[in-house]
Amino acid sequence: MSNDSNIALNDLTLEDLEKAFLDLGEKRFRAKQAFRRIHHHLARNLDDFTEFSLPLREKLKETNALPLLNCTESSLSSNGTEKYIFESPEEVPGRDGIRKRIFEAVWIVSDNQSGASEEKIRKTLCISSQAGCTLNCTFCATGTLPFIGNLRTYEILDQIYQIMALRAERITNVVFMGMGEPFHNYDNVIRAARILNHPDGLHLAARHITISTAGVVPAIHRFIDEKQPFNLAISLNHPDPEKRKELMDVTKKHSLEELMEAAIRYSRELKRRITFEYIMIPGQNMSEKDLQKLIGIARRVRCKINLIPLNTTLHGWRAPTATEMSRFQNALRQQGILAFNRGSPGKDVDGACGMLALKTMAQAKPSTAKTDSSKISRTSIG
Ligand code: SAH
Repeated sequence: MSNDSNIALNDLTLEDLEKAFLDLGEKRFRAKQAFRRIHHHLARNLDDFTEFSLPLREKLKETNALPLLNCTESSLSSNGTEKYIFESPEEVPGRDGIRKRIFEAVWIVSDNQSGASEEKIRKTLCISSQAGCTLNCTFCATGTLPFIGNLRTYEILDQIYQIMALRAERITNVVFMGMGEPFHNYDNVIRAARILNHPDGLHLAARHITISTAGVVPAIHRFIDEKQPFNLAISLNHPDPEKRKELMDVTKKHSLEELMEAAIRYSRELKRRITFEYIMIPGQNMSEKDLQKLIGIARRVRCKINLIPLNTTLHGWRAPTATEMSRFQNALRQQGILAFNRGSPGKDVDGACGMLALKTMAQAKPSTAKTDSSKISRTSIG
């Protein structure tokens, strides 16, 4: 059943919840109670709303006011990274009948090389903002899927809440780097980030929430105008305006120069360092000329560069070797540029950057079962 016409309590900000409860003829303070139940206590059932009277709970149940995702599968990588596949109750009419929204999230535990204490270990969740993507970047597998729509706020948040419940552990960081272009779903993504950051929710620090864009320039300006407190990352991937067009269609609409101007404005006005992601693709963007152009870009703006090895084998491209990666990274560092090797956790479960969707198409068969951790099929690899 689609929830478009019903209220989904978990889709609303605290202010919108207040309005919704007043409309239901209920007191305003119910909103805060509901907000805390959903986003702080991570209630997964309206029966857990113990402050509510039974008739109110029944009324909310009748309209399915707490829609949830169904986690159909998870696969565990040898290094602890785990990929989860979700199916949404939102149904989208398509040419060949109703289509299900299926998307993925990836749990990434950072290496604890420095011997950080348990509390300091970074536990990052990489979440999706759309089912499919319209961007069509040449290196990314998500672009090969049909686009089935923008995720609603609750579909974004429930990836996080559900994984925390399944694993019985808290996350420390959220990155919008799963399927989709977050800035093509700006309102729902920002609303989800605001709820994550809310003191009555998970209260995740804004600097622990990163939104990554392929370069939707007008949305970057909007983000700056609104002084959004979240980290911004830009998938740069090529330092040459024409070559970037070949890799990323979005450059045909918003040029690299316009993107640079937006990045410079971000760092000047918000006084923050912009993150550039740079996929390393041998034969495409790793030559001496590319390196020099990238250095030129990094000198124009306060930034850090995350180097990501190519994960897919589309077009017969290959991943860089460790030596090629470190040579490039060192050359940037010698110029005083902050450059990190982001590795590729989750490769063996198709959970690494750009690989989401590789198995989804083949495997996803709609199921009606409600999530029950004992029923999720879990594959371990390595
Ligand atoms: N649309 C957004 C977020 C999703 S992609 C964006 O473009 O930023 C998340 C990151 O994965 C991006 O930095 C993208 O460049 C990277 N990525 C995509 N495909 C990849 C691949 N095959 N190998 C390595 N990184 C990839």
